[in-house]
Amino acid sequence: MQTSIPNWLMQRAFLTPERIAVQDERGQKTFAELHEAVVTRARQLASLGVRKGDIVALLMKNSIAMIETIHALHYIGATVLLQNTRLTSHELLWQLEDSGAKFWFFDDEFEKCANEISTIQMMKTSELSMLPEQECEFQHEYHFDDVATIMYTSGTTGTPKGVLQTYGNHWWSAIGSVLNLGLYENDCWLAAVPFFHISGLSIIMRSVIYGMSMYVMNRFDAGKANDIIMNGNITVMSVVSSMLQQMIAELGDRTYPNTFRCMLLGGGPAPQPLLEACRDKGIPVYQTYGMTETASQIVTLAPEYSITKLGSAGKPLFPAQIRIENEGQIVRPYEPGEIVVKGPNVTKGYLDRPEATKRAIRDGWFYTGDIGYVDDEGFLYVLDRRSDLIISGGENVYPAEIEAVLLSHEAVEEAGVTGISDEKWGQVPCAFIKLKEGYSVNVSQVKAFCQERLAKYKVPKHIYFVDELPRNAAKKLLRRQLLQLIPKSEET
Ligand code: ATP
Ligand code: MG
Repeated sequence: MQTSIPNWLMQRAFLTPERIAVQDERGQKTFAELHEAVVTRARQLASLGVRKGDIVALLMKNSIAMIETIHALHYIGATVLLQNTRLTSHELLWQLEDSGAKFWFFDDEFEKCANEISTIQMMKTSELSMLPEQECEFQHEYHFDDVATIMYTSGTTGTPKGVLQTYGNHWWSAIGSVLNLGLYENDCWLAAVPFFHISGLSIIMRSVIYGMSMYVMNRFDAGKANDIIMNGNITVMSVVSSMLQQMIAELGDRTYPNTFRCMLLGGGPAPQPLLEACRDKGIPVYQTYGMTETASQIVTLAPEYSITKLGSAGKPLFPAQIRIENEGQIVRPYEPGEIVVKGPNVTKGYLDRPEATKRAIRDGWFYTGDIGYVDDEGFLYVLDRRSDLIISGGENVYPAEIEAVLLSHEAVEEAGVTGISDEKWGQVPCAFIKLKEGYSVNVSQVKAFCQERLAKYKVPKHIYFVDELPRNAAKKLLRRQLLQLIPKSEET
């Protein structure tokens, strides 16, 4: 029998109506007020024809209105497709078509994209509040197997795929997280990561499930984020490394109040100098590993290990398991292989892609496509994506390791490494570097720097200085496009 539990926000508004649910720089709402606003929004959406089972796409920036719209669609029983606001019109349209979305709601600033897309029923979010209300049947229970949200992967390794995230996935993700991080009466989670990524959406889910307040930032700004934390009401914040880097630089000599208890760092590898800077400033960093398919973190490193296990992503959350496989065999500690995960927070598959789903999920285990190893205590170390692995003279070379070394050079702002064919070695590493403003360094200096820190076969054979590295809408490095940056005539 399928598990069903009460509609989360309705139950929350019933249990703890007076608690603050959401805040932003303009004001706040209790859970009761949030529920009221969601009922109104749901009735407005119903008057437009939104029905149970419809896929509804949202192109919105973080706001309390976005939270209300997501809940309202769930009250109706619709599935919410969350779109990255940095995508081009072409990419947005592709997702709308691929998903078969029936409705598309976008913030006013994205009207330009809307002019290029006319094949779907659409409306500006500012106009939704002017719609009449129509009575409709609400979902008083959420079923764990029903799809609550769809999010396309960032497309770092290939064509994006729509990841199905069920109510059960979100529920278990929230539970796994709280069993690790705990819950305090004064908890308030700062949401500066976008809600269209799982890192942001999962804060909305935790807020209603835990009865915890969240502070919404419309867009990330390091100075503002620091000020909000310094005011003393924030206890937890989710970040990716570039956000944390900016916040530390802006913070200067100040330190966060003691009540700030968790900086949850995810989305990609964490550079060692950043972790060291956090240690020096007493910032309690929890490094995490996760992906759209695991409905946020699945492995997390508690701060007490941040020094002894520097660079590790930690151990699985309570409801989850991980193992490392190589050619179908589970490998021994320290031996690299594919990271394979299992847990009730893991997706049941990709939208309309049975083949990709079958490839990714085997025997209840999800094959992440990432390479890593576990140490003898079970701590996970993520090495790189399997598709980006360079094999040079029979040795495995991980671009992320070389990039980390390059990034530790004071003149380097960004670095990307990929393999390039080589007559002798099959493939050799090739580096692309964006220098910090005002710095200058030449190819042989960079090579010498690498030679001191990396085995010979890992030292980039070719180095190019570029103005910009190719990144996708999630700002992730597109290594597969790096070679296109090589100027035809230039040799290094
Ligand atoms: P696509 O699947 O389309 O290529 P994507 O994998 O970049 O897109 P996300 O789900 O947003 O889309 O990203 C998850 C990926 O980010 C992980 O599979 C992993 O490669 C990387 N990642 C996440 N956390 C870490 C970490 N702690 N260390 C290293 N890499 C990480
Ligand atoms: Mg992926």
